[in-house]
Amino acid sequence: METVLSGIRSTGHLHLGNYFGAVRNFISMQRENNCYFFIADWHSLTTHPHPDDLHNNVKIVLSEYLACGIDPEIATIYVQSDVPEIAELYLLMNMNAYIGELERTTSFKDKVRKQPDNINVGLLSYPVLMAVDILIQKANKVPVGKDQEQNLEMTRKFAKRFNNIYGVDFFPIPQAYGFKGKMVKIPGLDGSGKMGKSEGNGIFLYDEPKTIQKKVMRAVTDSGPTQMNQEMPEPIKNLFTLLSVVSTPDTVDYFQEKYNNCEIRYGDLKKQLAQDIINFTSPIRERIIDINSNDVFLRKTAKMGAEKARENASKTLQEVRKIIGFKSF
Ligand code: AMP
Repeated sequence: METVLSGIRSTGHLHLGNYFGAVRNFISMQRENNCYFFIADWHSLTTHPHPDDLHNNVKIVLSEYLACGIDPEIATIYVQSDVPEIAELYLLMNMNAYIGELERTTSFKDKVRKQPDNINVGLLSYPVLMAVDILIQKANKVPVGKDQEQNLEMTRKFAKRFNNIYGVDFFPIPQAYGFKGKMVKIPGLDGSGKMGKSEGNGIFLYDEPKTIQKKVMRAVTDSGPTQMNQEMPEPIKNLFTLLSVVSTPDTVDYFQEKYNNCEIRYGDLKKQLAQDIINFTSPIRERIIDINSNDVFLRKTAKMGAEKARENASKTLQEVRKIIGFKSF
């Protein structure tokens, strides 16, 4: 049995990228594996959320994950800050992470560009905390989207380094897990880049049908193909990528053929795409509303998850302390 771990920052509602990049893979594995799922509220602090919003953001993400089909009776679902062992292991692992390698990560360079007034140390050592999230549960499989490939590579590096420094075979070297073996990147509706929470290009599972329709109809396109079987430019490819995750293969083939024959009407494609997204998200949205209003269930779930997660995390931490050389008097 494999140990699987997946997480999400509590910085806003879940979008289609989160679902098809990570959650879907996790749900498909939860019955056959030892699965951990956590809400990364410490990670969310890099952008300084207002204290009035912090708890509610965690609640939203917890409700939305449960609404997607994570079963708290099978998987261990917990909030990162409920497991203080993570903070101690983070301190220990920071000693073996080097400033140069952290400065070179794409995600750090991205943040430096996007938030030049808030380049905090948490941003720099973000990959260490992410590695610790994974290593503390000794996970060997991590369902993530393509955007997390580099961070996972860092996790492998830190795990191997620890094992080498202390001459142990302690941390498993985790592998990325994509749906049917493939890592996906769900694009945004703005014609370039990935769908993201803060990019303003996302469709959220919680969006109302009308909002989804409006967003899809506004998606960037071009003036249409002029040659048979012409290669698709990025914005059109993106619409087809979205279609491929929410629509039937027949629908995708139909519009692909229309495109190839230069007969495509983007309005029709968008209408179909919007409808298929709505069909996909509507039942999830209903469950989100239901779960989010059930405080008793959420409290019970978070408490049960924290207990299970802490049990395993403290076992790992005790062993790490011993390996490093800590002894009690
Ligand atoms: P985040 O929202 O950045 O905390 O990401 C949570 C999970 O969703 C990670 O496993 C990401 O790899 C995945 N993810 C986020 N955005 C996308 C996207 N546009 N395409 C595929 N996976 C994504």
